[in-house]
Amino acid sequence: MLPQILPKEKVSTFVRMLQQTYRVVGPALKERGFYDYQPIEDPSELVLDYNITVASPKRYFFPAFDVLLKYKKEQAQDILKSQVEVQRTVLFGVHPCDIYATWVLDDVFSKDTKDPYYLARRERAVIIGLDCNKPCDEKSFCLDMGSLNIDKGFDLMLTDIGDRYYVEVATDLGQNLIEQSDVFTAAASADHAALQKFKEEKQNNFKHKIPYDTKYLPELLEHSYDSLIWEANARRCFSCGQCNLICPTCYCFDIIDEDEITLKEGQRIRKWDGCQLRSFAEVAGGENFRPNAGERLRHRMMRKGHYMKLLFGKLGCVGCGRCDRNCPADISVLRTYQQIAAASEATV
Ligand code: SF4
Ligand code: SF4
Repeated sequence: MLPQILPKEKVSTFVRMLQQTYRVVGPALKERGFYDYQPIEDPSELVLDYNITVASPKRYFFPAFDVLLKYKKEQAQDILKSQVEVQRTVLFGVHPCDIYATWVLDDVFSKDTKDPYYLARRERAVIIGLDCNKPCDEKSFCLDMGSLNIDKGFDLMLTDIGDRYYVEVATDLGQNLIEQSDVFTAAASADHAALQKFKEEKQNNFKHKIPYDTKYLPELLEHSYDSLIWEANARRCFSCGQCNLICPTCYCFDIIDEDEITLKEGQRIRKWDGCQLRSFAEVAGGENFRPNAGERLRHRMMRKGHYMKLLFGKLGCVGCGRCDRNCPADISVLRTYQQIAAASEATV
C-alpha cells in the first residue's frame, strides 16, 4: 500500500468524514495547558502538535469503570444481560509509545483467557498514529524502552513534513479510509525526501537515558530484589496510586457485584485497581501480602521491567514518562532503572 499525502488544511475534512462512521478521539487542550485524549466534536479541537497527553488512550478500550453485566430475577428465570457497549472509535494522532502500549494490552487481554469487553472495543477501533521527531520532554525515555520506532499496531501513521503529513498505510482498513476520502494524493519524490529528513532529525534528537541495553533490565531487576533502593525511594511514597492510573500499560482491576437489597436485580462492574494502593494485596481476614510501600514499589518496577516480559514477551514499560511527570513525591521509574545499574556495579 503506497504512502499518501494529507495536506494539513484538509485534516478537518478527513476528520469530518471519519465522524460519519466513528467517534473520533484525539489529543485536545485541557485546563492549565495540558493535553488529553478526548472525543472530538469539532475538528478544530484536535491538537496534533502536542507533546504528551496526561493519560493514555487505554480507557477507550478498558474503561476505569465498566458495567460487565446486569441481571434480573423474574419468576424462576435469571435474566443475564451482557453489557458490552461498543462505539466504533478512531484514535487520531497517537504517538508511537501509546501505540506500543496498546499492543502490550492486546497481549494481556487476549493471551490465554480472552477478555470479550476489551477485545470487542479494540476490534472495532482504528488507530491513526503520529510520529515524533523529538522527545515530549526530559521525562520520556521511549528510545530506551524500544517504543519509539514501531512498524505495526496502527492503521495509518502520519509524519509531519511541513505543510502536509506523509501517511504510511499499514492495513486494509487504513487503505479503505483513504479511498473513501478525496483529500489524499500519492506521495511524490519531494515527499519521500522530506520523510528521510524527518527521520534523520529524529535519530539525532533522541538520546539514550538508561546506561545499559534494556534487554538486561529483567536480570538487573532480579539482581536488585533485596536492594535498599526500594525502601529508600518508597519513604516518600504517598501510596496514592496516581502512577498506576496514568500508566498506559497498567491493567489491574477489581470485579464487584452490586446487588439491590431485594436480591432480584443487580450488576457486575469492573473497576481499575492499582498495585501502589495499600489495599491492593489485602485479602480476607485483613492480611496483606505487601503492607510496606517499599514492597509495593518494588512490585511495580518488577512487574514493568521483568514479570510482564516473562508473561508476554514484552517489557511492561514504554518509557512515556507519565508516572515520573505526575508523581507528587517525585519518585521516578527512570531514575530507578538508572539506580539499579549502579546497585549492580556495587555488588560485583
Ligand atoms: S510512586 Fe508516586 S504516584 Fe505512585 S503511589 Fe507513590 S506517591 Fe503516588
Ligand atoms: S511505568 Fe511510567 S514510564 Fe513506564 S509506561 Fe508506565 S507511566 Fe509510562
